[in-house]
Amino acid sequence: MVKTADFLIVGGGVIGSSIAYHLARQGKHQVLLCEKGRPPGMGSTAMSGGLIRMHHTNPYQAKLAWSSYPYFQHWNEIVGGDCAFQKTGFFQMIGKGYQEHAKKNIRMLKKLGICIQMLSPDDFIQAQPFFSPEDIAVVAYEPDSGYADPVKATMSFLQQAQQNGLGILEGVKVHSLKTVGDRVIGIHSNVGEIEAKEVILCNNIDAKPLLQSIGLHIPLQSKKIGICFFQPSEEISPPLATCIDDTIGTYFRRTGDGKILVGISTNQLNVDPDTLSPLTMEDFHDALHLMQHRIPKLRNQTVFAGGRSSFDSYSPDKHGIVGRLQEIEGLYVATGFSGGGFKIAPALGEYIAYELMEMKDHEDLQPYRLSRFEQNRWIQPKYPYRHM
Ligand SMILES: Cc1cc2nc3c(=O)[nH]c(=O)nc-3n(C[C@H](O)[C@H](O)[C@H](O)COP(=O)(O)OP(=O)(O)OC[C@H]3O[C@@H](n4cnc5c(N)ncnc54)[C@H](O)[C@@H]3O)c2cc1C
Repeated sequence: MVKTADFLIVGGGVIGSSIAYHLARQGKHQVLLCEKGRPPGMGSTAMSGGLIRMHHTNPYQAKLAWSSYPYFQHWNEIVGGDCAFQKTGFFQMIGKGYQEHAKKNIRMLKKLGICIQMLSPDDFIQAQPFFSPEDIAVVAYEPDSGYADPVKATMSFLQQAQQNGLGILEGVKVHSLKTVGDRVIGIHSNVGEIEAKEVILCNNIDAKPLLQSIGLHIPLQSKKIGICFFQPSEEISPPLATCIDDTIGTYFRRTGDGKILVGISTNQLNVDPDTLSPLTMEDFHDALHLMQHRIPKLRNQTVFAGGRSSFDSYSPDKHGIVGRLQEIEGLYVATGFSGGGFKIAPALGEYIAYELMEMKDHEDLQPYRLSRFEQNRWIQPKYPYRHM
């Protein structure tokens, strides 16, 4: 027998789960979510660093992060459950030559209502005295930002959605899209067909072959990224905040159990998520070397304490691709979040659910359409930094 739904979501990472939560809470539609593994899935979400920060060099992404912030701050009241948000404060270190850009970006972020201030390297060292200020020109400080747990956030989206009638199909891998003429009417999977009025692809890089199978191209590449953990030999005090160091192009934060989490970026593109190689000792050494440059105290017997190898899908301008596709009806995509999808997931899911249910455009999603690449409307910073 063919199963049916109003909305069929493919992928149970944080994006698919947020959309499912927002659709189900309206209680008006039959919503199904297929996940090839077991939620929170086998993709980026399960491995994410979980940074929650507002500092971006374009207003669109900053606005989505800022609209998502109340969810993280009041998760239990708004969604229910826990996302383990930790308000550690966030420092964005910006290198020499980019002071004017920082000033302009901070002005733009303040206009959006974001609480952010510019610190001199001396002010910064007062707040985090174990840092070396070398190469830092200015630091942007967000007292209210920090990090949260992407797995807990995803699971609580799904638990609440289930209470509102969401059906979750674990272990269901979508093989192809079912079409009639210029319309998608469902999917084919390892357990047969499911028909739906609208199919929503939230399956990260695996959206690409599904679209290819109906002759559509989406400009995405998977990229291997990861995180690793270090155990300092002595306590860092005051506690390490959440940081992006644009001078060296990495991010780091403390963890709940006294370790330091450090981001790892690689140049490995078009990796297969199902056969990803683990991080290497060279990756860990590089990350530790960068950290020791910024926090000299870590030169004393800092111990490697594990890591995670993962990936995300990257679009040409390193921002998500969201919306219906002009060529075909009954299909919506939300993918390509380019290493930054977690912090925007709550508001993004809310706005996507609005577009799906109301059949109207949400103005905050307009910059993210696939058509921007053909129309030369890439999301690009007016005032970039060295790495962002
Ligand atoms: C190491 C790392 C650190 C990160 N740090 C941050 C950070 O600090 N802050 C931040 O905001 N973002 C961060 N990100 C990015 C963020 O985690 C991702 O952008 C976000 O999780 C993407 O969510 P998603 O739901 O689009 O994709 P995914 O989490 O990959 O979910 C897609 C799901 O689809 C499923 N799937 C795939 N194909 C199929 C199929 N054919 N049928 C059924 N199911 C399928 C997969 O199993 C998967 O569960 C980081 C990512 C990584 C990897």
